[in-house]
Amino acid sequence: MASHLQRTVGIKGVKAGLLWEFVPKEQFADHHRLATAIKGLPVPLVAPRPLAEAISSAGGVPFEALDEHLMIRSLPGVFCAGEMLDWEAPTGGYLLTACFATGRAAGQGALAYVVG
Ligand SMILES: Cc1cc2nc3c(=O)[nH]c(=O)nc-3n(C[C@H](O)[C@H](O)[C@H](O)COP(=O)(O)OP(=O)(O)OC[C@H]3O[C@@H](n4cnc5c(N)ncnc54)[C@H](O)[C@@H]3O)c2cc1C
Repeated sequence: MASHLQRTVGIKGVKAGLLWEFVPKEQFADHHRLATAIKGLPVPLVAPRPLAEAISSAGGVPFEALDEHLMIRSLPGVFCAGEMLDWEAPTGGYLLTACFATGRAAGQGALAYVVG
C-alpha cells in the first residue's frame, strides 16, 4: 500500500507517516474512505505543549508556495496569513504585529483577486 500511494498520488515521507498514524487500518481497503482521509485528515489534539512553547506554532505553508499576495499558487483564491505561514518570531508583540500585517496583505490580495 505504501509504494502504491507513493507511485499513484505521490504520498510519501511525513505525509505517509501521518496517514499510517491516524487512518484506521481497515480504511486503507476502502478507496472512497481513504480518499476522504487523504483530503481531510483529522489529527486529534491530545494535549497542548507547555505555555512557553504553545505561544507560537512552528511550521506552516512555506513562502515559496505563495505569490506576492500570499495566495497559494496551487490553490488560486486561497490566501494564507498569520500562523498559517511558516515563520517564527520572538515573543514580545512581534507575532501579533506580523499576523495583523500578513492578514491585511492577504485581505488586500483576496479583494484584488475577486474584483480583478
Ligand atoms: C498564551 C498566548 C500568549 C500570547 N502572547 C502574545 C503576545 O504577548 N504578543 C504577541 O505578539 N503574540 C502573542 N501570542 C501569539 C499570538 O496570539 C498569535 O501568534 C496570533 O494570535 C495568531 O493569530 P492567527 O490569526 O494567525 O491565528 P489564531 O489567532 O489562532 O486564529 C485562528 C482562528 O481560526 C479559527 N479556526 C481554526 N480552525 C478553523 C476552521 N476549520 N474553520 C474556521 N475557523 C477556524 C480559530 O478558532 C481561531 O479563531 C500569544 C499566544 C498565546 C497562545
